[in-house]
Amino acid sequence: MHVFAQDIQELNNEDYMLDGFMLMDFKRGNIFLLAPGERVEIEGSIYLFNPKIHSYKVQGVPVYSFSPLTDQEILSISKLFKEFNSRPYGILPNVLLIGNAHEHLQVGLTSLGEKKVYVEKGPRFEQILYHEMNHLYFEYLSSKTKMWVAKQYFDLLMVDNDEKEKDPVWNAIDESHVLDAVSDAEGHPYENAHEMFASLLTVLRYNPEKVKEMVSKLDLEQQAILKKLILFGETLIYKNQLLH
Ligand SMILES: [Zn+2]
Repeated sequence: MHVFAQDIQELNNEDYMLDGFMLMDFKRGNIFLLAPGERVEIEGSIYLFNPKIHSYKVQGVPVYSFSPLTDQEILSISKLFKEFNSRPYGILPNVLLIGNAHEHLQVGLTSLGEKKVYVEKGPRFEQILYHEMNHLYFEYLSSKTKMWVAKQYFDLLMVDNDEKEKDPVWNAIDESHVLDAVSDAEGHPYENAHEMFASLLTVLRYNPEKVKEMVSKLDLEQQAILKKLILFGETLIYKNQLLH
């Protein structure tokens, strides 16, 4: 049966909004990532997402972008894909979607089940891609490793102070406190074990010295937990080995 699909750009109602690769569903508070060529059913109608797009293939992964990618961006993607591929349980996304940055904020998003990663262009492109790839990686780890990370997360909650955004315990593994030119909204390791893992790996990959300097100023009990996490993270990043 031939099903007529309307162009999703024509979807125009108060419950849905298309923003680049992101389809916001205000009714349910969801954001969906759409890949070019994808069809979605919304309230009984079929819509086709078929934007004018630049397409690439990096390490076998389809990459779509609204603006042409620079050589530097392609190099960053290729380098990070190789890194993730050589980790234990190496994983790559099914598709990488690259949007244009919103004003003042560069956003990243991962659809774990569909293995879609979305990153916006801008000065922090590589670090945001790295953070998102770690979300994907964490999801596909063994439950033993996930449990270990979750245990460290709860141990940190036990030794932190009240206000998470200002707490030096969480700041030591938060991109917005460790890396340069990062907006406050970016790192939120205190949110859950998933976010802690993604932020921890990103700060250790891009400024391990700063992390260790910040950790050295904490109470001994707080240091002890963070040192376990640092050893775990650095072993994964620099030796491609999982300790737990
Ligand atoms: Zn995140």
